[in-house]
Amino acid sequence: MHPEALVRVAVDRPLDQLFDYACPDGPLPAAGQRVRVTFGRSEQTGLVLESGQPPGIDRSRIRPLDTILDPEPILSGPILELLRFASRYYHHPIGETVLNALPPALRKGLPLPVPAPAEPRWRVRPDATHPRLGPRQQAIVQGLEASRTALALDALADLTGLALRRNELQRLADHGVIEAIADEAATPPPGGPSVALTPDQRRAVTAIGQELGNRAVFLLDGVTGSGKTEVYLEAAAAAIARGLQVLILVPEIALTPQLVRRISRRFPGQIAALHSGLPAGERLRVWDTARRGDRNLLLGTRSALFTPLPRLGLVIVDEEHDPAYKQQDGLRYHARDLAVMRGHIESVPVVLGSATPTLESLEKTRDGHYRHLPLGTRPDGSLPPPVRCVDTRVHRTDEGLSSPLLDAMRSTLNDGRQCFVLLNRRGFARVLACEHCGWVSDCPHCDARLTVHAAARRSICHLCGYSQPLAEHCPACGQELSQQGLGTQRLERALSRHFPGIPLVRLDRDSIRRRGELENCLDAIRAMDAGIVVGTQMLAKGHDFPRVGLVGVIDVDQGLFSVDLRAAEQTLQLVLQAAGRAGRGGDPGVVLVQTGHPGHPLMQAVQSGDYASMVAPLLAERRAAGMPPFGFLALVRIDGPTPEASARQAEDIARQLRRHAQGVRVLGPAPAPRHRVNRRFREQILLASPTRKALHHTLAQARDGWQHQPPPRHLRISIDVDPITLA
Ligand code: ADP
Ligand code: ZN
Ligand code: ZN
Repeated sequence: MHPEALVRVAVDRPLDQLFDYACPDGPLPAAGQRVRVTFGRSEQTGLVLESGQPPGIDRSRIRPLDTILDPEPILSGPILELLRFASRYYHHPIGETVLNALPPALRKGLPLPVPAPAEPRWRVRPDATHPRLGPRQQAIVQGLEASRTALALDALADLTGLALRRNELQRLADHGVIEAIADEAATPPPGGPSVALTPDQRRAVTAIGQELGNRAVFLLDGVTGSGKTEVYLEAAAAAIARGLQVLILVPEIALTPQLVRRISRRFPGQIAALHSGLPAGERLRVWDTARRGDRNLLLGTRSALFTPLPRLGLVIVDEEHDPAYKQQDGLRYHARDLAVMRGHIESVPVVLGSATPTLESLEKTRDGHYRHLPLGTRPDGSLPPPVRCVDTRVHRTDEGLSSPLLDAMRSTLNDGRQCFVLLNRRGFARVLACEHCGWVSDCPHCDARLTVHAAARRSICHLCGYSQPLAEHCPACGQELSQQGLGTQRLERALSRHFPGIPLVRLDRDSIRRRGELENCLDAIRAMDAGIVVGTQMLAKGHDFPRVGLVGVIDVDQGLFSVDLRAAEQTLQLVLQAAGRAGRGGDPGVVLVQTGHPGHPLMQAVQSGDYASMVAPLLAERRAAGMPPFGFLALVRIDGPTPEASARQAEDIARQLRRHAQGVRVLGPAPAPRHRVNRRFREQILLASPTRKALHHTLAQARDGWQHQPPPRHLRISIDVDPITLA
């Protein structure tokens, strides 16, 4: 053992420090290597963050580390720098931050996978005979014919959207249709552009291309269908042509199989796709393939951001406005903001794209931090559909449906087109209630009502998951209960009554629980001519359906009057994203929004059709109130087992925050809007600051205090910097 050689190790504990260990014989592990250490009385997987010989340490108390798990660093220097930044910025313990950036298998200390031997690649035989093929087999052959190169199994699966097995391909080979060839050492050539770019698109691609190798952030701003994805593909091709890797973040991969297919068609065999739905082993394998630089493109959700990429050249964040980019527990990071930081650390350009950019991003284009790349019109010349309001005070609704909406649906269906009906509440009805004594079905653990799920015949809490069988009679007075309020399932039933015989698909989290159900849903939508699709905000995401003639939005009024900071902005984004589903392929279509407040400034703005003018009043409001992007917020949440314990702790923390507040307003503590969740009681304190620096100073100082005098174990304190919701 070199007696003087020490490493500083991060372990998965809620503590703000690194821990020193002495090294056994042999080379000192470097920053980014995992080690096994004894911590307290347990064994832990840790990650080395520093190694060397710091002076002035009392060596007598330092333990040796047990084993070095990795022969070389598995996290790169830039990723370690990004994680250290994230830990500071979000005031989250360094060890948890670092360990949680690893795929779960590595966090547990399992070894890196041995790279798989080269997979055979498949292609259609030049002399192929064509026996009668089933539909799956046809899809396989068409996929291979469309690709300009031979494809490995997983690339072919991405391209066709089918879950393929090796023996399925082997059977086609046995019939003389396709053949396997040895893995070509070289990556397949990138495909050429599939379309001629419009001048706006060309300008955007050129601007991004010129900054390859530099720090730059772009906001690609264009309505749905204006060709943003085409710009991503071109910019990615430019980076790949220079030997660079591209990271593309999307809010939810499962919801965007079309995007995955489009990218794999353009870059066959070059993509790694990473999301939390993958089984652990697969996730690790994909992560490692990207880390070794074996794929040119990494497509992933939020957490893919922390994947080391040795040749990173470009970062793209699609739908940058999507709240799914914000992690809502543990390290509460915003993947878009950390993507911008990663671009800064690695000196690569970052492209943020959206049809409805956040006020934060728009403001950054105004003050010169980001460059604005507007895409004016859709390449096919179609206009986004006009948005009209249906006044529900005049036109009463029955089970959510007004007669103008039903009439418009009827004529759209008669034209052979589809109607999308959006209601952002899943389940059947909102609540079971007793009309005689006023009893309602509350969750026993939360300040929330149970939602009726008719198909499952259960009442379910959407906050904690508690569920119970559907009651028929009031537990208080014994009278029959009635179902009140509206969810997608009830709307589905009402629509099937109004439009018997018309194909009807429901798309929400409950309808796509099982693997493959989403694909079935999307296929069903694509297969039908005239038909109805009812669903939650999932409907509004990036699917590209050519036959949507009408989008109906059932209820926006909650969003108009919520006190939550971003409710208005998010309502606007939801309506416009939903509207973007209509009017592809020629006819612009119509969007009808049902509201009891058509005179509300936001509803007036939505009908104007111009996003910039819609957000102008919101920006003015935020500026006047010192709210983001003109001020900076953090929310400190305290939760405990009793209301008194939480309140006492919250008072104490608020006092500490006030002691260190220099120009920072400390508001509260107050009970959270949902005070009781899952049998715990939540208090919160809001910090509002004119500068980031003051905000961070206050948080860091106060947090030092409560780290040194930790609150009792049953109380939890968490910090949310740049919260996207105050609830
Ligand atoms: P967005 O990502 O902004 O919604 P897309 O890139 O998906 O837009 O483009 C919308 C549609 O227009 C797609 O079907 C796409 O293939 C097509 N498209 C995009 N750019 C062009 C272009 N320059 N010429 C013709 N069609 C285009
Ligand atoms: Zn009753
Ligand atoms: Zn509950």
